[in-house]
Formats: sequence, C-alpha cells, structure tokens
Amino acid sequence: MEATNKIRNVLGLTLSSPLVIAGPCSAETEEQVLQTAREIAATKRVSIFRAGIWKPRTRPGQFEGIGSIGLEWLKKAKAETGLPTAVEVANVKHVYEALRMGVDFLWIGARTTVNPFSVQEIADSLKGVNVPVLIKNPVNADLDLWIGAIERIQKAGITKIGAVHRGFSSADKSQYRNKPMWELPIELKRRMPEIPMICDPSHICGNRELLFSVAQTAIDLDYEGLMIETHCNPSVALSDAKQQVTPAELDKIIDKIVVRLSSVEDRKFLSSLEDFRDRIDELDTKLISLLAERMGISRSIGEYKKKNGVTILQNSRWSEIVEKRTNDGVNKKLTADFVMKIFESIHQESIHHQKQVMANGVEVKKEK
Ligand code: PEP
Ligand code: MN
Repeated sequence: MEATNKIRNVLGLTLSSPLVIAGPCSAETEEQVLQTAREIAATKRVSIFRAGIWKPRTRPGQFEGIGSIGLEWLKKAKAETGLPTAVEVANVKHVYEALRMGVDFLWIGARTTVNPFSVQEIADSLKGVNVPVLIKNPVNADLDLWIGAIERIQKAGITKIGAVHRGFSSADKSQYRNKPMWELPIELKRRMPEIPMICDPSHICGNRELLFSVAQTAIDLDYEGLMIETHCNPSVALSDAKQQVTPAELDKIIDKIVVRLSSVEDRKFLSSLEDFRDRIDELDTKLISLLAERMGISRSIGEYKKKNGVTILQNSRWSEIVEKRTNDGVNKKLTADFVMKIFESIHQESIHHQKQVMANGVEVKKEK
C-alpha cells in the first residue's frame, strides 16, 4: 500500500495508512491461531488480529466455533506478536468472556446487528467499559438498523466505534456473496462522519478473486480501513474456506492497493459508477442464465420433434417469434433492428442445439 501523508487516528490507533484487521474467520486450533498470527505479524501491515470464537452458522451441525478456549490462544498470539485482538460478540456471555480474557476490540456481527434486542443487551453489558466496538452492517440493506445499532452502543458510553461494511444479502444472483451496495455505507459516512468505515471485502466477495478490487474501491471511497479474513492454510479452514487468503496473499493485496489523493467528489462518482457496473454485471449474469435455460428448452423440443418425426425448422413459428419480439422490443424503446439481430442469433443457436439432439448428441459443427 502506498503510504499517504495523512496521519489518521482510527479507533485509538495512530496510522499513516488505512487500518488493516486480519485473521482467520474462526479460531480452530492453538497451532492455527498462533501460526496465522505469526505470519500476519511478519507482514508488518496489520494492526489488529481478528478471529471468530463463536460462529453464527446458517444451519446447525456446521462448525459453530471453538468457544472460550480459543480466547486463551488469542491471548498467547497477542503476547507473542504484540497484535491487539478482536472477536465477534453476539450476547452478554460473549462480552464477559472476551473482556475477562483481555480481548482489545469487540465486533458485532451482521446477524446480530439486525436484532435491536441483542444489540441493546450487548450495549447494556458494556456500560462503564470503554472497549472499542466495531459494528457490522445488518445482513439486510437497512441503513437505519445499522445506524440504530451504532447509536445503542454510543449511548452505552462507548467512544471508540467503527462501522464495518460487509455487504448485504440479496436474492438476486450476482458475482458477490453479499452485494456491496456502496451507496449505503457512503450515506452512513455522510450522516455519521465521526464513525470510521472499515470494509470487509472477504464477506462481500465470498471468494479470493474479487478481494483486491473491492478493497481498492473501498480505499478509493476514503474508507479508514479493511478487515480481511486470513488463514495459514485456507483450503482446510473450517468456515469460509473459499474467501480466506494466506498471510502472504494478504501482503500482496495490501501492497497492490493504491491510496489515491482524489477528491471526495471523484470518489462519489466512482462509487456510483461501481454501483451501475454491479447492476450491469448482475443483469448480464441473468441474461446468460436465461439464454442457457432457453437453449435447454430448445433441446427438449428437439427431442420431441425427433420422436414425432417433425423437421427442425418450422417457418410459421419463426415468423411469429420475430414479429412478436420486435413489437415487444419497440414498445420497450429498443430498435427493431437490434431485436431482430438478437433473435436471429438466438434462433441460429437454438437450431444448432436441436441439430445436436437430432444427431444423437454427436457434436455438430456450427454453421457460419
Ligand atoms: C465473520 O466476520 O467471520 C462473520 C461471521 O461476519 P458477518 O457477521 O459479516 O457474517
Ligand atoms: Mn467469516
């Protein structure tokens, strides 16, 4: 990461570049925690070591976290590396145990932020303890719920609070595990400028490949930090294996990130552009799935025609399709020429699939 001149104070830490929080999704064994912490500390790029001790899993029977014993390993990791530690707390018992074992930062997970009762209970248990707290966005795209959770923690007297943007769950297919919806954290930054914003690209992406670009976008949007899940051996991780990186990979990602000195206006423009591009990517993914589904039906029709000895090409049907689709397209402000071209192309592909079926699955060369 290119250093900036800007010296920031984030959550009580004085930094010359954005804050980096890294560590495994879950603490699994003492060796895994210590090994990961050692390798992370060796990169000299990380300020806080994270690990999940109690894991909120979608279905029971999955690895639900190692529990309190893991706090002992975090203590050892801190003693050895000097890195302060952070864990997720979802109830009062978690808060007491984490504080008793000297955890330095607490975070409230996305599945807890959605529930004002749980957040309030955690807030009440924090009265009189000024431990820094990070609050992840709720799983659903509800900005007020996120702000409400921050306010509950503020009202408990906590002064060091950070927001963590980990993306929002959505029924729409997209390249992300949780859609970033950048406009929400940006609006939170506008409404609560004193709250540092930390991006968690790991839970946004759900895979390693997209981590860098999401992290770079966050830095371009002037986020104060990043939280990246890092494991000494990600392929055997007991949770979130696909999205975790090794400390060496983390080092490379952070090294590649450029801290630009662009204006906030440029950043707002970038974020809107990013949102538009996400929507286009999403629609293109849907288009491809729909086309694949359509060709699947063409193949079934092919089978049916074959059984009944009917020819592939039936001109009356084709003329009807062209007319209907062109009218529909023109009504939706597409040019007739464009709609014709698309359907000619779809028709060609469809005939190709049907020919394959007729030829008993023998590969048929596509006609030009
Ligand atoms: C985590 O950080 O491992 C976690 C469970 O995250 P989230 O609450 O964002 O799903
Ligand atoms: Mn995780």
